[in-house]
Amino acid sequence: MKTLKTQVAIIGAGPSGLLLGQLLHNAGIETLILERQTPDYVQGRIRAGVLEQGMVDLLRQAGVSARMDAEGLVHEGFELALNGQLTHIDLKALTGGKTVMIYGQTEVTRDLMAARQASGAVTFYEASNVQPHDLKRAEPWLSFEHEGEQYRLDCDYIAGCDGFHGVARQSIPVEALKIFERVYPFGWLGILADTPPIHDELVYAKHERGFALCSMRSPTRSRYYLQVPADESVQDWSDERFWDELKTRLPTALSEQLITGPSIEKSIAPLRSFVVEPMQYGRLFLLGDAAHIVPPTGAKGLNLAASDVSTLFNILLKVYREGRVELLEKYSQICLRRIWKAERFSWWMTSMLHQFPEADGFSQRIAQSELEYFVDSEAGRKTIAENYVGLPYEAIE
Ligand SMILES: Cc1cc2nc3c(=O)[nH]c(=O)nc-3n(C[C@H](O)[C@H](O)[C@H](O)COP(=O)(O)OP(=O)(O)OC[C@H]3O[C@@H](n4cnc5c(N)ncnc54)[C@H](O)[C@@H]3O)c2cc1C
Repeated sequence: MKTLKTQVAIIGAGPSGLLLGQLLHNAGIETLILERQTPDYVQGRIRAGVLEQGMVDLLRQAGVSARMDAEGLVHEGFELALNGQLTHIDLKALTGGKTVMIYGQTEVTRDLMAARQASGAVTFYEASNVQPHDLKRAEPWLSFEHEGEQYRLDCDYIAGCDGFHGVARQSIPVEALKIFERVYPFGWLGILADTPPIHDELVYAKHERGFALCSMRSPTRSRYYLQVPADESVQDWSDERFWDELKTRLPTALSEQLITGPSIEKSIAPLRSFVVEPMQYGRLFLLGDAAHIVPPTGAKGLNLAASDVSTLFNILLKVYREGRVELLEKYSQICLRRIWKAERFSWWMTSMLHQFPEADGFSQRIAQSELEYFVDSEAGRKTIAENYVGLPYEAIE
C-alpha cells in the first residue's frame, strides 16, 4: 500500500471540491482531491447556470473568474409568466443594485480544473473505493484505489464534496445524523440547444399544464425545462414534442419568438428538498450536495455549495493561521442558517409555480392567489428578488 499525506483531503472534484481546493491552495494550505469519475465525465455534466453575486465574488477571490467576467451574462432581472402575462422582476432595482451572472456550471468546473492543473495541486481522477476512517481521531485518513494500486491518505481534515450519492455522508453513523426530506411528484425535463434564447432574461412560466423555464447558457445556447411527472421517460420526448409543449406553456407573444433546433442534451432531473444535520462528524465536513439538495426552481443548488465552501475555507484559514480550532465546531450551525433560508425559498418557488397532481381546487386557487399577491405588490417582488440574488453569507464569528 502506498501512503500519501496532505492537510485537507477533499472527496469529489465537482464545483464544491474544486473551489475549496483552489481557495486553500492559494492560501498555502495543501489539498489532495479524490474523484471517482474521469475529468471528461465531470466536465460533461449539464447542470446549474445562475450564479449569485456571492459565488461570483468567491470565484474572483479564487482567481478563476477571467473567462466568467469576459463571457458570463449579467442579468438584472427575470420574467414571471402568469395568466398569459409577463411580469418583470427587476432584481437590480428591487435589491439596491444586486444582479446574477449566467455562466454554466460546466464552464465554472472547466475554469477550476484548469486552475488546479496549472497550480500543480494533486487530483486523483478515477479513484475508486474511497473510504474515510478514524473521523473522530486527531489523525483521520482515507483508503482508496487508483490504477490497481491501494493507497492510504493521511490528513488533518476531510471535506466531503462528493454530492448527494457520495461516500462522505454515508460514512457517518446514521444515529449521528438527522435527515429532513421532501420528494416532489414531478421532475424537470431539460433540453440544451444551440439556438438563440427566446428572451434576454430567464422566463419562469406557471401554466395549467405545468411549469416551464426558459434559461440560457450564452447568447447562442438555450436551456429549456418542462415540468413532467416523476416517472416520465426521456425516450418519450422527441425534440418536436418538447418544443410543442413548451410553446403551449408560454404566453403567445413570447412563444411566437421561440427558435427551435435539434437538442444537444436532453435529460430528466427529479426534484427533491433534502438537508442533513449536522453537516460534520469529527474531522469530516460535508459541503454542497453531499449535505443538502434543493429543487432547481430557485437556482440555489450550486450557490449553496459555494457558500458552504466560503464558510469552511474561512474557518480553516483561521485554524491553520491562528490555531482557532474551536471554530470548526461551528461549521454546521453557520452553514445551516443560510441553507434553511434557501431551502425555504426553493420550496416556495416550486410550490407556487408547479402543478401538484394531488392538489385539490382550493389548494390550487390559494397558490395562484399567493403568487399574484407577491407579484402585484412591491414588497412581494422585493422578497422574491432579495432571495433570488442570494442572501448574504453568514459571518463565521
Ligand atoms: C440534473 C441536475 C440539474 C441541476 N440543475 C441545477 C440548476 O439549474 N441550478 C442550480 O443551482 N443547481 C442545479 N443543480 C444542482 C447543482 O448542480 C449542484 O448543487 C452542484 O453540482 C453541487 O456541487 P457539488 O460539488 O456539491 O456536487 P457534485 O457536482 O455532485 O459533485 C460531486 C463530485 O463528487 C464525485 N463523487 C461522488 N461520489 C464519490 C466517491 N465515492 N468518491 C470520489 N468522488 C465521488 C462525483 O463524481 C462528482 O464529481 C442540478 C443538479 C442536477 C443533478
